Amino acid sequence: MTALTMPRPGQCKWTEGDSGNYTFPCTNSNEGGSYCAYHRTIVYETPEQRKARASQTKFVPYNRRLAA
Ligand SMILES: [Zn+2]
Repeated sequence: MTALTMPRPGQCKWTEGDSGNYTFPCTNSNEGGSYCAYHRTIVYETPEQRKARASQTKFVPYNRRLAA
C-alpha cells in the first residue's frame, strides 16, 4: 500500500517523486485549473518546445560525440 497525500481542493497538483511515492510540494493555488500558472507552462509544454528549450540552455559540441 502507498500512502498518497492528495492535494487540497484548489491546490496545484504538481508532484515530485517516483514508484508510487509521490508528494505534492507545490502549495500554490491552481487558479481554477489543475496546476498553478508556473507549473502549467511546464506540464503542457510540447516535446518540440522542450527540445528547443533544452538546446538553448545546454550546448553539446559535436566534436565530443565520439571519444573512443
Ligand atoms: Zn504549482
